[in-house]
Amino acid sequence: MASVTFEHLTKTYPNGFVSVNDVNLFIEDGEFVVFHGPSGCGKSTILRMIGGLEDITSGEIYLGKELLNDILPRDRRLAMAFQNYTLYKHMNVYDNMALGLRLRDLPRPVIDSRVKSAAQFLGISDILTSKLRAISDSQRQRVALGRAIVCQPKVLLVDEDFARQDDDRRREMLEDILRINSELGITVLYVTNDYEEAVSLGKRIVYMKDGRIVDFDDIYN
Ligand code: ADP
Repeated sequence: MASVTFEHLTKTYPNGFVSVNDVNLFIEDGEFVVFHGPSGCGKSTILRMIGGLEDITSGEIYLGKELLNDILPRDRRLAMAFQNYTLYKHMNVYDNMALGLRLRDLPRPVIDSRVKSAAQFLGISDILTSKLRAISDSQRQRVALGRAIVCQPKVLLVDEDFARQDDDRRREMLEDILRINSELGITVLYVTNDYEEAVSLGKRIVYMKDGRIVDFDDIYN
């Protein structure tokens, strides 16, 4: 669990386009923050810079007191729930969830207990041995979230693509993510261009336009 701080965070693409422009923000440890703004305003670019999928052009990102700029993406204690999450169809649910932990060479009993407790948390214990192709879309979505939380991230990044699906599944996914935040204490950064949804979550909203934060609710209100 950790706070997230942006200081003069800026992204300029090689063609000169400034996608994120001098963004300053403090997100408290354990907060759930919604980034909202029109398509193209730079929301996903911010998530991609935190996750290390994009280089930071200038400025700093801190995770707690740690400067993230200098930490290799794979060593960042973050999880990303993006639409293009790669679940492996030929593998079962358990192996999909365990994959990241096996890559880190964690001992087998540790992997086993983390996968089982995440599965229980998400209500998918009964499908651990099922192949991905045999389960429903909403179960797959839970497997993707399970894979994220077994790594015990300090921060969960959720891009709107992850939620681009029918209303029922979107609602279920949001409920899971709200629980991940409230029960596991993981800080959540959630991106959406859907205003109704942003407001309905009842969390702090950061409004963006043209790469800048144009307004945000005061966390101390
Ligand atoms: P949002 O998530 O708010 O919809 P993005 O962060 O994905 O917006 O993109 C912000 C802006 O950066 C958009 O105008 C997009 O076209 C631009 N952009 C994204 N990637 C590149 C790139 N590789 N080169 C130039 N511009 C880019």
